[in-house]
Amino acid sequence: MPIPTDVDQLANQVRGGDRRALARAISIVEDRKPGADRLLAAIYRGSVGPVVVGVTGAPGAGKSSLVSELVTHIRTLGETVAVLAVDPSSPFTGGAILGDRIRMQEHVSDSGVYVRSMSTRGHLGGLSDAASRALVVLSHAGFDVIIVETVGVGQSETEIAEAADTTIVVVTPGWGDGIQASKAGLLEIADLLVVNKADLAGADEVERDLTLMLELGGSTAWRPSIVRTSAVEHTGVGALWDEVHRHRNWLATDHRGSDRRRRQLASLIRTAASAELAARVDGLDVPPDLTGRVARGDLDPWTAARTLIS
Ligand code: GDP
Repeated sequence: MPIPTDVDQLANQVRGGDRRALARAISIVEDRKPGADRLLAAIYRGSVGPVVVGVTGAPGAGKSSLVSELVTHIRTLGETVAVLAVDPSSPFTGGAILGDRIRMQEHVSDSGVYVRSMSTRGHLGGLSDAASRALVVLSHAGFDVIIVETVGVGQSETEIAEAADTTIVVVTPGWGDGIQASKAGLLEIADLLVVNKADLAGADEVERDLTLMLELGGSTAWRPSIVRTSAVEHTGVGALWDEVHRHRNWLATDHRGSDRRRRQLASLIRTAASAELAARVDGLDVPPDLTGRVARGDLDPWTAARTLIS
């Protein structure tokens, strides 16, 4: 891919809604290609408008099916939507892309919908940073809504979900049998809880478990609501979207909403800083003197690492 000769022009095209420019800009920033930082700076100007919704949950919970349903619902409201599907678990380059294409197929001919997938291929600075960068570009491309879909199994994925205004955690009947610790972690980041596959037996039990866990968690500023959906029976998605808006209104009117925004920005800056450090370290040559001292046992690798950085 050529280095953009006119970063400002590309930024303007992205902000003007040009899809080809958008795809190109995302590739540039996500792979930290030459000009990426200047491009991000040029795109990141002025306030951001879209609703950013994170959807996370275990593999197979029905996230992609639900996101597809949400897209359909959002489109009936006349709003445009971009989906960023992040699949850190896919061992195959393009695996996530194929899967999402299949699930999102009904939307491919709709010009009001844009889908972009990311999988594990080596992102300098980490997947979380690459996704944050892509999200910034998408946020300035004129969409009304952005949905970030991540697999809720590890730290970086939940970090991505935290970049959202509203985080939806998807669980299914049978969820109560899982491991307690990972459940607590997911509950912590949930603004809204979805019991998907509510057409299957066991939805009552899950809802009861969730209610109990929320009560045990004490009174937080915002108490996540629980919504039942079925992506196959097309139920509950309208109610879910109404809850997203209720949460958004709360964010806008309660001072805890702006506190949260500041915390999110601090976390975004921290992620960017560690990715920046990682990228710089990646480009460093380790002096032979340093490896020699470690080889002789005069120095341990960790002290050598600190020496290298400083
Ligand atoms: P993801 O891995 O979380 O994105 O889950 P998928 O959207 O790929 O769904 C996993 C499987 O669950 C697929 O076979 C879906 O057809 C199925 N599924 C998704 N939503 C529902 C639902 O509401 N009810 C039922 N019965 N199956 C569902």
